[in-house]
Amino acid sequence: GGHRTFLVGGNWKCNLSKDAITSLCKELSAAPDLETDKVEVVLAPPAPYLDHTRSVLRKDFEVAAQNIWVGGPGAFTGETAAEMIKDVGCTWVILGHSERRNLPEIRETDDFIAQKTKTALSHGLKVMFCVGETLAEREAGQTLDVCVRQLRALAEVIGANDWTDVVIAYEPVWAIGTGKIATPDQVEEVHEKIRHYLAGEVNDSVAQQTRILYGGSVSPTNCNELAQLPDVDGFLVGGASLKASFLEVIESFK
Ligand code: PEP
Repeated sequence: GGHRTFLVGGNWKCNLSKDAITSLCKELSAAPDLETDKVEVVLAPPAPYLDHTRSVLRKDFEVAAQNIWVGGPGAFTGETAAEMIKDVGCTWVILGHSERRNLPEIRETDDFIAQKTKTALSHGLKVMFCVGETLAEREAGQTLDVCVRQLRALAEVIGANDWTDVVIAYEPVWAIGTGKIATPDQVEEVHEKIRHYLAGEVNDSVAQQTRILYGGSVSPTNCNELAQLPDVDGFLVGGASLKASFLEVIESFK
């Protein structure tokens, strides 16, 4: 990770209950205070629990939404505006998660995700912007093409200036929730190429400053090796963030 502050996100997806969140937050409080210049931690509960999570979670951990509406408040039944996320004390949002890109009932497009990112940034929310290829795309040799296509959609919408609050999460779809983790070589190769893409198509300072997280079956047993890779600046963790042993993933920055 080098000079970039390590970041660990926990994506609870559509899991847990109010009581389970209270218990988990209590267990997470057992760990010593974070040195937030060295590691940042962000947890993403389901939308109905954002406010509750913010109230029971230790204050050195931040809270993220898992999605937002692309526009402001108004006649958009079922949606949640960036203003509302901010209003309950959240500072981040996960956008472009593969489940929202790829589930046939949802199918968010590259451009829609880029527009949502612009909306989030304009309201002062930081964004974990997820990219990654399916197994079929990897096997067809399209891994980088897919990541670049997803990132280019973002670059076209936000330009070169607005990347300070963007974190990229490289999450190969075949490694998400499967227990099948990408090898350190596979991870470093894609992260290095994403940084190279940013240098060429955005600029060198964005390439050097933007954090690139790895996500896909990260756990206490495999995080330490990946955390050492030069272009890995943290993790986005699904299943392993639902238990108190998530603290061990946070510790991997050391
Ligand atoms: C995720 O949902 O972003 C994720 C990486 O899930 P898991 O850690 O369970 O593979």
